[in-house]
Amino acid sequence: MDSDLGHRGQETLCEVCTTELDRVAEVGLLSDRELDLLQRPKQKLNINIPVRMDDGSIEVFPSFRIQYNTARGPTKGGIRFHPAVDADEVEELAFLMALKCAVANIPFGGAKGGIQVDPSRLSTGELERLSRAYIREYHQNIGPNTDIPAPDVNTDGQIMAWMRDEYEAIAGRQTPGVITGKPPLLDGSEGREFATSLGGAVVLNEFVRESNMGNHGLDVAIQGFGNVGSYLAKFLHERGYSVVALSNIEGAIYDASGIDVPALFESYEDGDDLFAYGAERITNAELLTLPVDILIPAAIEDQITSDNMEEIQADVVLEMANAPTTSRADAYLNEQGVPVIPDILANAGGVTASYFEWVQNTTNEYWTEEQVRKKLADQLQGAFANLRVIKTESDEERTWREAAYTRAVDSILDAEQLRGNLTRDAP
Ligand code: NAD
Repeated sequence: MDSDLGHRGQETLCEVCTTELDRVAEVGLLSDRELDLLQRPKQKLNINIPVRMDDGSIEVFPSFRIQYNTARGPTKGGIRFHPAVDADEVEELAFLMALKCAVANIPFGGAKGGIQVDPSRLSTGELERLSRAYIREYHQNIGPNTDIPAPDVNTDGQIMAWMRDEYEAIAGRQTPGVITGKPPLLDGSEGREFATSLGGAVVLNEFVRESNMGNHGLDVAIQGFGNVGSYLAKFLHERGYSVVALSNIEGAIYDASGIDVPALFESYEDGDDLFAYGAERITNAELLTLPVDILIPAAIEDQITSDNMEEIQADVVLEMANAPTTSRADAYLNEQGVPVIPDILANAGGVTASYFEWVQNTTNEYWTEEQVRKKLADQLQGAFANLRVIKTESDEERTWREAAYTRAVDSILDAEQLRGNLTRDAP
């Protein structure tokens, strides 16, 4: 069978997006103007940023900010620091953010930014000067009511703190809502570090309840024990699921009778690695094909492909990573009756918590962790319910991904219509 991965060894996100948009166009009869509007970003910025290095030389770093759609609100999305980041990748990710905000029903359009850099070779001083320079270059195009950046790959709370500080130095006033993912001491939100995982647990619970699977003791395999996978293991264990496999880039552990997740967390805090826990050691590839009820890719993209789709034994896939399933594998699994709960719903807890941070910054009223948890659960239960309505009210069978894309596309296009930018049939 031909590989479904392109020359970069991966399916581009745009291929996934295009396939999905085509499907929505087929079922929803999108006009050419509507498709065109969805396929083109509102604004693409590309600036080469000079930075003075510690040895006195000047290095120039290509950088990007792409604001995809502004119909539903100011744009929002992370800034990644990576040597391979380019305009195409940033555009794809900005589009996914626009969809994710619409699915989560938060009033933002999507954006993404990036700097072509390997941050591991920079000193702390160079990293700070680069982060501040990015804001100096883009400050006229960002702001709490314009475009709100956040952390992404290789960027963190410290970088957001420098960026906020630089923006405020230029603006001449405190503007905490210009950026999210800040440390709590600098007006970041409680709960941000586990919000993506909590959102995933809420969505899975809704799905399980809806499907009458009865969550007690359902077997779960999670690929990735990073920020998302580790908190998710904890939340699912607390909710009565049996987490039987976990992995990191080096391999996986498997215990068919269920991993003692609190004990594993304790040993992690003591500095042990995943494999010191004492369960059977298997590979990441084996984890993906375990006979479990729920498979959760929570590591990187393109993990379920035409190479392994026929061996997947799980009854349900919950996509916590971005784009872990190629479109060919997604179609195959759905044909086999294996629902795939798509990334733009499953991992929308992160951007939802970012929205909460922005709300707190702009109202100057701060919430407790309990309030954040409750609001996050309400928001994602609402998002799930919206997709369920689309699925149940459609004449034809729709996958969860089709329902999510339909919801997002309709929401964006209806907003465009209300603004007078589009004429479409009454929704
Ligand atoms: P992370 O870097 O904290 O953890 C990634 C985990 O995946 C680690 O355990 C790592 O060892 C493992 N991993 C890396 N490469 C691997 C490989 N080739 N094979 C198997 N395992 C591998 O990242 P994270 O923040 O947990 O994010 C995980 C995924 O979730 C990413 O796709 C990310 O884009 C997506 N996501 C994260 C958030 C968030 O809030 N952190 C929000 C939305 C989506």
